[in-house]
Amino acid sequence: MYKGIEASRGIGIGSICLIVEHDLSFESKHIDDTEAEKARFNNAIEAFKTETSAMAENIRKNIGPKEAEIMEGHLAMIADPTMAGEMTKMIEAGQCAEAAVTAVCDMFIGMFSKMEDDMMRQRASDISDIKISLLKLLLGIEDVDISKVAPGTVLVAHDLTPSMCSQIVKENVVGIITEVGGKTSHSAILARALEIPAVLSVPNITEIVKDKDTAIVDGTEGDVYINPDGEVISQYVIKREEFVKAQAELKKFIGQKTVTADGTELELFCNIGTPKDARKAVECDGEGIGLFRSEFLFMDRPHLPTEEEQFEAYKEAVEIMGGRTVIIRTLDIGGDKDIPYLGLEKEENPFLGYRAVRYCLANSDMYKIQLRGILRASAFGNVKIMVPLVTCVDEVRAVKALVEECKNELRSEGVKFDENIEVGCMVETAAASLIADILAKEADFFSIGTNDLTQYTMSVDRGNAEVAYLYSAFQPAVLRSIKNIIQAGNAAGITVGMCGEAAADPLMIPLLISFGLKEYSVNPVLVLTARSIISKWSKAEADALAEKVLALTTEKEIVELLKASAK
Ligand code: PEP
Ligand code: MG
Repeated sequence: MYKGIEASRGIGIGSICLIVEHDLSFESKHIDDTEAEKARFNNAIEAFKTETSAMAENIRKNIGPKEAEIMEGHLAMIADPTMAGEMTKMIEAGQCAEAAVTAVCDMFIGMFSKMEDDMMRQRASDISDIKISLLKLLLGIEDVDISKVAPGTVLVAHDLTPSMCSQIVKENVVGIITEVGGKTSHSAILARALEIPAVLSVPNITEIVKDKDTAIVDGTEGDVYINPDGEVISQYVIKREEFVKAQAELKKFIGQKTVTADGTELELFCNIGTPKDARKAVECDGEGIGLFRSEFLFMDRPHLPTEEEQFEAYKEAVEIMGGRTVIIRTLDIGGDKDIPYLGLEKEENPFLGYRAVRYCLANSDMYKIQLRGILRASAFGNVKIMVPLVTCVDEVRAVKALVEECKNELRSEGVKFDENIEVGCMVETAAASLIADILAKEADFFSIGTNDLTQYTMSVDRGNAEVAYLYSAFQPAVLRSIKNIIQAGNAAGITVGMCGEAAADPLMIPLLISFGLKEYSVNPVLVLTARSIISKWSKAEADALAEKVLALTTEKEIVELLKASAK
């Protein structure tokens, strides 16, 4: 068995088509007739543009407009005068076209591949794709026609470039294996969009396999088998059937409401970090945003975002969600989230220190800029303000007073906002849980942050591997806390949601239904899974299970019972 990066889920079993790398070597020679060489180069550029536009069109038709943007990006790069202009200059200086293409592309590849940002590094592989295509055109090399591979083919390549992906006929390719690339590489994105199982970055796989070898591609686990025995194949045939069945089940839930088995409608929202993620939430069928982690707008930049920048970012998310709820959590820094330019001092106990709402209330000028940005965005949709790390009622009152100050300012400036905007709080500390009944009178809604609630209830640093065995939302203490919060919120008539990871845990969902949770906020990719699990449980069944669970005394027994009862 060979290990790689699981890039596109599912199981593929088939016969290998090895895509051999072409020899793109050439003899660099001095050119006297530079005009003729420039014409040869320009012809190659024109042919590249025609081919690439056709590929973009192919992807748009067969995969989707968003994925076609990858090839459109190649067209934009070659149309940018910098790249082609530099190449032309080198030809005018007497270099052959192949040498000019190689030198300029290699320079950009070197520059982009050193960048920290994943997206920027991805541009290095885009340019490498452009370089290969141009060299093939200049050297007159014809590619293997991927569009003609037989049904049941597993493609194996050093790198599966977007141009190769554009030729894939989905019905014929059952798996993809490459030697390079990660989860965010374009080949991974395209493989996922095509729903073809893919394992990337399997070392030396092109040297290990040959054409027509049998391969199993487990894109869920990142495992690859070459010429496995019959027993392994039978196991994977069963796994493949199970996967296909589960996927078909999930597809049934696209566009459906989120309802329990006995017909209670619940809300299924998404957690996001950037305005663009809101698009993902819509694509994944999320019904709103239950947590917009606004601190990401403050990171990866040298200074605070202005009110205008924040307003634009919040408005973008709100407009993408088109009238659906968007809960924006105000700045939650400190603990494990550092923002260097704020110059926060290193603390003995950062998770217990100067962070989140504590920092914001002590720096109210900065906080008001954020509140004004959120209020202004509220004129464009259904926005709610959420306060992180609340431990006492004074904090909620203080935030509400600042919100009122901002409202007064905006009113006198004639700027529009939602007069009835709700201000709710995250319940994620032991203190907030214990006074949930008091907080529920002050907050317009609750959202339970189980990631921190587990940390603060169990007194266990959520990032410390040594004590990770205690970090579980299934600990009896945490479950009791969750139940208490939901019941206190429901008794006061406010909405109670959950935006911690536990909201999407199939084992936790029946307990949350039993406790009376109304809003579940999950990672966009888990929307359909959560909707499917919710649909399987009635309140009566969930209550019966919750009663047994709450009678147990250890986390191990609880998880065992929940696993045994899972649907
Ligand atoms: C939480 O604590 O559960 C939560 C959702 O917030 P974060 O993970 O950003 O602390
Ligand atoms: Mg938290």
